Amino acid sequence: MLIRNAEVEGRRCDVRIACDEITGLGDRLEPTAGEEVCDAACGALLPGLHDHHLHLNAWAAALRSVRCGPPQVTGGDSLARALRAARPRDGWVRGVGYHESVAGALDRDVLDGMLQALPVRVQHRSGALWSVNSAGAAALGLDAGRDAPGVERDAAGRATGRLFRLDGWLRERLPETGRPSLSEVGRRLAACGVTGVTDATPGNGATELAGFSEALAKGELPQRLVVMGTRGLPEPPAGGGLSRGAVKLVLDEACLPEFDALVACVKDAHDADRGVAVHCVTRVELVLAVAAFRLAGCREGDRIEHASVAPPEVVEGMASLPLTVVTQPNFVAERGDAYLADVDAADLPWLYRCRGFADAQVPLGGGTDAPFGAGDPWAAMRAAVERRSSGGQVLGPGEALTPERALALFTSRPEAPGGPPRRVAAGARADLCLLDAPWSRAREELSGARVRATWCSGARVLI
Ligand SMILES: [Zn+2]
Repeated sequence: MLIRNAEVEGRRCDVRIACDEITGLGDRLEPTAGEEVCDAACGALLPGLHDHHLHLNAWAAALRSVRCGPPQVTGGDSLARALRAARPRDGWVRGVGYHESVAGALDRDVLDGMLQALPVRVQHRSGALWSVNSAGAAALGLDAGRDAPGVERDAAGRATGRLFRLDGWLRERLPETGRPSLSEVGRRLAACGVTGVTDATPGNGATELAGFSEALAKGELPQRLVVMGTRGLPEPPAGGGLSRGAVKLVLDEACLPEFDALVACVKDAHDADRGVAVHCVTRVELVLAVAAFRLAGCREGDRIEHASVAPPEVVEGMASLPLTVVTQPNFVAERGDAYLADVDAADLPWLYRCRGFADAQVPLGGGTDAPFGAGDPWAAMRAAVERRSSGGQVLGPGEALTPERALALFTSRPEAPGGPPRRVAAGARADLCLLDAPWSRAREELSGARVRATWCSGARVLI
């Protein structure tokens, strides 16, 4: 394959791909007999993007679920209408993306007022909470005394229908529907020029790994894949486009682990030659995680996911550790208006920082957190540059990045978010994203609509 008239790092260039590698770059390369030619028409040819934090199976499931939060659903009435209109899949109506701005705290009584005839489960947009109606509570056996830490009960012992961080528990009690196809997710990623992703789901183990292997082998997902997960996540066989990432730990300020236990978890992962990625969305969670890394010892591959609230004194402490932050600037655009209303004023200036980490020399990579954020890295880049909420408010203007630095959030090597950007160069893997305009024009709007073609490991993906 010969890509002619591309713009590579500001210069007009022809680029040759053979198998999964870039084999040549030059001012003028002639096609060999039978070689396929793509005229790039002076569009920018970039390294394919890597989304450093998302959740593939949850995204595939979300595509088949009812949207239960803004912007599609903004009040109790519209939520009730959406749930009643939904087609049940596994006997249940499944909703995602709920936020309290719709109808307050969502429990079984509120849901019963919307739909009683079928079991309903609705996921909070944080991913940490499922709410079920009474039919759902009955199907799960909650009223028959089935219990687990995370099943909320009122003072009288009645289940409220709210289930905290119980995804695995819930899955075991729902009808078996098999692995969701990742074809549509793979297609949407390719349409944005994404050639690799890191799945950051904490519960990923042998079963999920086998599912991902199958999805890659079947071509559902053309991207290469780094899988984070449990300490027990097996090492995948080499050569399948799949590699094992960090052990994912989730901190929840409402029920933090003992500090010593957290330190022991980090050490244990390191002993198994694994990095550790810690989910931190509050100031306290970040302080605890950084202290644990400091005591346990910090190594390459250790990461903080989100670092949603990062005050300067904590960032300063992080700079002396080999610790990477993987941020989601898209939340500034998607949730900025709610943050302005809900977040403690003392935390607001330190929300989803970008420039602050870069200035402190803390490596910073980007992920979209799809499906909890919209799975479009270009929207995330735009938010990193503009820092503007959907309602037009600017959050932390001093945290803005240049378009080039915003792009770099998504172009570092899969295993090194925040490291040097990959380059379109001879010998590099042919993971490529071609835009329909030169970079000087594309940088002004950072839109996924400009992606004209995507090559994953040298194969052009139809989008
Ligand atoms: Zn996540």
